[in-house]
Amino acid sequence: MIVMGIESSCDETGVGIVRWRDSGVCELLADEVASSVDEHARYGGVVPEVASRAHLEAMVPTMRRALAAADIDRPDAVAVTIGPGLAGALLVGVAAAKAYAAAWGVPFYAVNHLGGHVAVDTLEHGPMPPCVALLVSGGHTHLLHVDDLGAPIVELGTTVDDAAGEAFDKVARLLGLGYPGGPALDDAAREGDPNAIAFPRGMTGPRDARYDFSFSGVKTAVARFVEARRRAGDAIPIADIAASFQESVADVLTMKALRAAEDMQVDTVVLGGGATANSRIRSMIESRCTTAGVTLRIPKPRLCTDNGVMIATLGAHLISAGASASDLRVATDPGLPVSTSILAGRS
Ligand code: ATP
Ligand code: MG
Ligand code: FE
Repeated sequence: MIVMGIESSCDETGVGIVRWRDSGVCELLADEVASSVDEHARYGGVVPEVASRAHLEAMVPTMRRALAAADIDRPDAVAVTIGPGLAGALLVGVAAAKAYAAAWGVPFYAVNHLGGHVAVDTLEHGPMPPCVALLVSGGHTHLLHVDDLGAPIVELGTTVDDAAGEAFDKVARLLGLGYPGGPALDDAAREGDPNAIAFPRGMTGPRDARYDFSFSGVKTAVARFVEARRRAGDAIPIADIAASFQESVADVLTMKALRAAEDMQVDTVVLGGGATANSRIRSMIESRCTTAGVTLRIPKPRLCTDNGVMIATLGAHLISAGASASDLRVATDPGLPVSTSILAGRS
């Protein structure tokens, strides 16, 4: 069975194609992505209208490239991100998926973007044991309990304000590091002392939710620190601020991921999302997993950011678990909860 996955929930237009193997893993046949990230740079964040227009322009060419790379005329099934994501951006991918599925006469599966971030790891690391997944990107911060990729995923916690990547971008902007600022901040932090400034650790108090996150407090603390320095006419220690901020975010993310793994009694932690590229999040989760005797799985960077392969892979897992195809009348759901892996849409 060959499954195509279409992704358009944010600023990446992705079309991926995989072949399902009976062993429960997929073989990657095509991975085509077009990103509009450069078009958003001057606004300092993803502009929904700009993203939607870019998807419209990129969708058919990306689809054609994927079919050519996989050397097929059509897949056996089409899976698409139905949510969560930007409403207008989602519409483009979903309209394309419906049109192609109908024209080819193949079933259509409306699947959850977040589940795709977890499922994609099976391509490199094999079948997924029960695990805790930590997803960190520009739009999402989720701590998930995954028992089986073919079954509903349980959300343990999420951010109550900014996403982790968004916090990196905002702090980077404050420090004049450009957009997207995550990678630049990571670089700046290399020269800094992570213990130079004691920035707060959000949501770690005894009364705070066990698995939720908050990054607006640390972001505001950085803003106040910079402002005070500026007013006093002092130099801004960019490297120390970057390193100390990064340390706070990495500390909370990794501490809660390991706490969840212990509580759920799983021995595997899976990472996903573009912010997993962060060097400190990586080194800290690696050492904490080693200490706890937990296996850490991180997809390669290209598969951590948004792509179509992750949607194809989740689709393949759901199909093999017996999921029925979605109705072609199913509507996009920008706020789709992670527990809904596939939206049937039948009335
Ligand atoms: P979505 O939220 O829908 O998954 P997105 O486009 O917002 O999509 P990604 O493309 O997965 O997110 O990742 C981009 C985010 O990851 C940006 O916020 C970026 O700053 C952040 N990021 C990338 N590299 C690093 C890094 N080395 N350190 C910190 N943050 C990073
Ligand atoms: Mg992106
Ligand atoms: Fe994503």
